[in-house]
Amino acid sequence: MGCVLCEHCTAACCRYLALPLDRPGSTRDYDDMRWYLMHEGISIFVEEGDWYIQVQAKCKKLGADYRCGVYETRPAICRAYEPKDCDYSGKPYGYDQLFTHPSQLEAYYEQRRGKKLGAPKEPPAGGPGKRSKKKKKTA
Ligand code: SF4
Ligand code: SF4
Repeated sequence: MGCVLCEHCTAACCRYLALPLDRPGSTRDYDDMRWYLMHEGISIFVEEGDWYIQVQAKCKKLGADYRCGVYETRPAICRAYEPKDCDYSGKPYGYDQLFTHPSQLEAYYEQRRGKKLGAPKEPPAGGPGKRSKKKKKTA
């Protein structure tokens, strides 16, 4: 940050981080992502075919005045960030996909795979195994 636009912004770009994810292939991959989305502050987006997890978390170096507390030594990723089309511009990102809730990923999976994600597994033939039997509660 550090532009005219930034003077009017509460530093939207310093309040999250996004990390690349492997593109999901297996049902297990999707199910893991479904679990990520069960957590507050987590979203997943797809941009130009690449998948990312976004974590809402304010940078510890962001001051109460919305200025960078380590501006001179800020990390390279902050230096490279372009205010053009940034978080404050209000322009839509044009994500290929954006998932902010598990149900959105479930719908995406079902549409592509024709089956439900997270459906309970059929019990094994012959009923549940010995170890999974619940014990009766006694007073
Ligand atoms: S979101 Fe944009 S306007 Fe706001 S601080 Fe970051 S670069 Fe500046
Ligand atoms: S180091 Fe500075 S510019 Fe980078 S995210 Fe933190 S407050 Fe923002």
